Amino acid sequence: MHTETKDHAELAATFNKDEARVDWHDETLWWIRQKRDKAVNHLPEWELLRETASQIKDNVLSNLAGYLVQFEENAQNNGIIVHWAADAAEHNNIVLGLLHSKGITKMVKSKSMLTEECHLNEHLENNGIEVIDSDLGERIVQLAKEPPSHIVLPCIHKKKEEIGDLFHLHLGTPAGNADPQFLTETARQHLRETFLTRRAALTGVNFAVAETGEFVVCTNEGNADMGAHLADIHIASMGIEKIIPKRKNLGVFLRLLTRSATGQPITTYSSHFTKPRAGTEIHIIIVDNGRSKQLGREDFRNSLKCIRCGACMNTCPVYRRSGGHSYHNAISGPIGAILAPNLDMEKYADLPFASTLCGSCSNVCPVKIDIHQQLYKWRQVIVQNGYAPAGKKAAMKLMSLTLSSPTAYHMGGKAGRFVMKYAPFAVNNKLNPWYKQRDMPEPPKESFGEWYAKNRKA
Ligand code: SF4
Repeated sequence: MHTETKDHAELAATFNKDEARVDWHDETLWWIRQKRDKAVNHLPEWELLRETASQIKDNVLSNLAGYLVQFEENAQNNGIIVHWAADAAEHNNIVLGLLHSKGITKMVKSKSMLTEECHLNEHLENNGIEVIDSDLGERIVQLAKEPPSHIVLPCIHKKKEEIGDLFHLHLGTPAGNADPQFLTETARQHLRETFLTRRAALTGVNFAVAETGEFVVCTNEGNADMGAHLADIHIASMGIEKIIPKRKNLGVFLRLLTRSATGQPITTYSSHFTKPRAGTEIHIIIVDNGRSKQLGREDFRNSLKCIRCGACMNTCPVYRRSGGHSYHNAISGPIGAILAPNLDMEKYADLPFASTLCGSCSNVCPVKIDIHQQLYKWRQVIVQNGYAPAGKKAAMKLMSLTLSSPTAYHMGGKAGRFVMKYAPFAVNNKLNPWYKQRDMPEPPKESFGEWYAKNRKA
């Protein structure tokens, strides 16, 4: 899907053309939200866990530089080679440089939203490196030449028949076979071959422990482990906010992460990487890419607490019915709409408006990020910086003039009722986005002001 020049509303309108897809997308994500609720309701200490996680992350954000340096020192003592990248370009060049230095032209990669954010695959492919994504959902969107639409369920927007067609085209499965078990087995065989023949593997990082210099990667498919254990060089990409102070803190986050994501008690694989095996190398790239800037934004720094569980997406009524691609950013949904304007306020000015501000996202967030409050604050910042669309700016100006003058308010009301009564087509037309999905109300015979003036006298 080409998303470069369109905003959320336009992209959502495209997604909404396929009503059946919208319905099952909505229902599937709501089903996952309900699984999350069940898992959470089994834990009486859930709120305590959330509060503890939030406080640990507060501590991390207030002492980030210290914990990062402590992590670097301990990781180096363990034999891990540490790199620092200020932005996406630097990160991508470090990965490319490492592969070039070893003469490697093929790499296997497990799911890493940071590499999506940095557009690593494109950079490597443009420089002659073949990258194979090993997470099943990621592999499917890679074959479809699409970005992931969800941070935990990258191909949730795809029907199984579409996946069957993709596998037929790229992996030679029989045409028309969309049996999920068969397709999964095919992917397993295809990826096994990849794991056995790649000398380099890249993984993301879910948590990096300052105290020990180790990092933890969580997957359900074991693909990160297969890649890293069979390769000569393991490259791990982590955002600076992934640090936690101590190993004992992991228990808090691991209990929260997958319950929030899929309703499972824990991820199938939570693998700790501490030091390279003999004859192999582990490199970790610690990436800023706008995170320090977000840390400096008082109202938005809490967004760096995010552990990428996806719960805010599964619960969001806008996300569920507009699809992840409508956010035109690597991280979609409510948290993406907070993170993206920090990277480019003008390009992502539409995203904080793609919300009902119902607060459901904040209620489910396992690290207690005040998501809907931040979306509301971003709207104010975006308008103050002049990035609101011209139409919205003009409408708000007109509204402000009307609401601040009783005469203009009464005249506006009268004119509105007149138009609605005698020329409804002037407002009920395709140019009015509000009208597209709603019935306009019957105009009242008189305004409340008029009614009140009459009845008060009586
Ligand atoms: S903002 Fe909260 S709910 Fe959303 S992905 Fe991050 S941790 Fe999960």
